[in-house]
Amino acid sequence: MRALRCYAPNEVGVVEVPKPELQNEYLLVKPLATGICGTDIEIIEGGVDPAYIRYPITLGHEWVGRIVASGANDFAVGARVVVEGVVPCESCDECKAGATNRCAKYDEIGFTRDGAAAELISVPAKLAHLIANQVSDESAALVEPAAVVYQGLLRINPTPDSKILIVGDGTIGLLATTLSKVFQPKVLDVYGIRSSQEGLVRQAGADRFVTDSSQLTKDYDFVVEAAGAIAAVDLALTQGKRGAQVLLLGYPEHGARLSLAVHDLINNDVTIHASFSYTRKSWKAIVDLLNSGDLDLTFVVTHIYQLEQWPEALETLRALTSQPRGKVLLALNLD
Ligand SMILES: [Zn+2]
Ligand SMILES: [Zn+2]
Repeated sequence: MRALRCYAPNEVGVVEVPKPELQNEYLLVKPLATGICGTDIEIIEGGVDPAYIRYPITLGHEWVGRIVASGANDFAVGARVVVEGVVPCESCDECKAGATNRCAKYDEIGFTRDGAAAELISVPAKLAHLIANQVSDESAALVEPAAVVYQGLLRINPTPDSKILIVGDGTIGLLATTLSKVFQPKVLDVYGIRSSQEGLVRQAGADRFVTDSSQLTKDYDFVVEAAGAIAAVDLALTQGKRGAQVLLLGYPEHGARLSLAVHDLINNDVTIHASFSYTRKSWKAIVDLLNSGDLDLTFVVTHIYQLEQWPEALETLRALTSQPRGKVLLALNLD
């Protein structure tokens, strides 16, 4: 079967690999659509913290698929599923406490075990979640990044009628915007640097989209940094009212540092949260929101490529474009 495989930094391509075999308590799943993101680019370029990647690796950690063979009673062939990428050991203290994102034995699909940018993938059945018929493949493919965002939002748990600012107009920013609506804010503003993203930001549910930071009101109760750039973190830390909570979601380059105006942060009684990955709880919450019809992420997907077009897909993701850009998907076996 074909797979988009990264053998070492800057050694990547679609290659033929053996099909995985069905194991007990596992599912063989045919990926339908697999998103690519900045983290995939970092894997390809060698920018990921070495503790969180194992080469060679088949890429693909944001995906939806259809079961083609089942080694578990609860899952029938033909069902559409999303599968938690973090494989918890279930025996460490963090797992026992429900913090599967901090499992002592890091293991994740698309990072330490082969991902879903391939014609088939083998996954533990216990991590699979059924997707209702009315949910689009595009929405379902976004469960992983949505769960990452939701995990962070549950951490700050915005109170109803609060003022929220999202810093960032990329995919994570769009997801943070649309998921913030679950918490019923009074004000939901987005700061970004690409005016071409305004339509997507509005679709996500923002009240206001600002590309000039001097127009921000600096009175937000909650600020979510979703851009993954040091300058954006710096900005996010200064936009809250006194007592604000700031959530860091975006990943700047590994090793990048920021100098903090510590005196001002203390004076302003600021709480800074940094949130990693997702737990089973936040993953299931996103699946429930999609299956109930309360959440639709289809609008976030702006580009779909075939597997062989992976260079174009990566180019689209990297490009400094004046066109709207949300999630870039690889279509593998779209019905
Ligand atoms: Zn990702
Ligand atoms: Zn564990």
